[in-house]
Amino acid sequence: MKTIYLDNNATTQVAPPVLEAMLPYFSQLYGNPSSMHSFGGQVGRSLRQAREQVAALIGASADEIIFTSCGTESDNAAIRSALHAYPDKRHIVTSRVEHPAVRSLVSHLAVQGYRVTEIPVDNLGRLDMDRYRVSLTPDTAIVSLMWANNETGVLFPVEEAAEIAENRGILFHTDAVQAVGKIPINMGKTSIDMLSLSGHKLHAAKGVGALYVRKGTKFSPFLIGGHQEKGRRGGTENTSGIVGLGKACELAAQNMQPENTKVKQLRDKLENGLLKSIPNSRVNGDRSWRLPNTTSISFEFVEGEAILLLLDEFHICASSGSACTSGSLQPSHVLRAMGVPFTMAHGSIRFSLSIYNTEDEIDFVLDKVPGVIEKLRGLSPYWNVDKMVCS
Ligand code: PLP
Repeated sequence: MKTIYLDNNATTQVAPPVLEAMLPYFSQLYGNPSSMHSFGGQVGRSLRQAREQVAALIGASADEIIFTSCGTESDNAAIRSALHAYPDKRHIVTSRVEHPAVRSLVSHLAVQGYRVTEIPVDNLGRLDMDRYRVSLTPDTAIVSLMWANNETGVLFPVEEAAEIAENRGILFHTDAVQAVGKIPINMGKTSIDMLSLSGHKLHAAKGVGALYVRKGTKFSPFLIGGHQEKGRRGGTENTSGIVGLGKACELAAQNMQPENTKVKQLRDKLENGLLKSIPNSRVNGDRSWRLPNTTSISFEFVEGEAILLLLDEFHICASSGSACTSGSLQPSHVLRAMGVPFTMAHGSIRFSLSIYNTEDEIDFVLDKVPGVIEKLRGLSPYWNVDKMVCS
């Protein structure tokens, strides 16, 4: 049975042209880009081209791009650099719904004595801008807010938030790992100082990412070693991964608009179809301002993990908004921050699409999911009690 992959916010398929671009760097073109000889030098030139391709996708210039190993490294490098640049400032502002790449880091920094403010969101996952404004103080070293939420797809107004931070002289970082390649970004028109992206979320390979650092921003390296990346990130570059990331960015820049239209149409068909055919279901997050490929849907009175297991029997891949911790199912911090009721949050499933999904796949999913939910609800004492009360 064919796999129907609707988990593209977890990772994406490497695009065939990306793989093709990468392959020579595993065989003929294995030189070290820092070498003095021309064999290494030609790889150095390929990295330069990739840097330009990444920069072009986000409206930056090539020397503002530092290659890293992943989105997590980019996030860590940005936040730690800001704290290093402003050692007297001990306050970090972030949100309650960040990815663990930021959230776990700031918790760790809190233990080391930094003060962390996590801005709340409303029940649609939208950032509380009033709370954000009053959270900024002369002691704030950095603001780190995600551009797009990985679970709900909801977008934060990071450009507006960055402008507010700039007016107060505070550095602004955005985790744009889910946004880059999915929505237009032009760093030339924002006040954002640093931006993280990750290759495997936009049809490049795993193990490669980038950090945009605006020209003139004080920056100190996270990985200290050789003088690769102009001394901003030690370590021999992942040359094949970087060349692939460049190609993926070039493709995203060329195809974003038509691809988004198609992906959004499939996402909306899936979402509307499920809401229509399954009672007591609802979308989590602001449907009007989110990524075109993502929908988080809650099916009341069922466990998300159980839904995933039954979907897996049909080779349908998605992910749930709950996580099994020490034997008990906890709804995700994102859904909790949005105040999604427990009976809904437990049964939440994230479907995230890509350009490789087809209408036939969506029809198949629309055919299978209602039966899965009905079967599980038949086993749920809460659903049956609820029905008895209602009837
Ligand atoms: N930030 C966000 C919003 C993400 O969704 C992810 C990955 O899911 C990351 C950061 C981490 O990226 P990576 O897997 O490249 O470390």
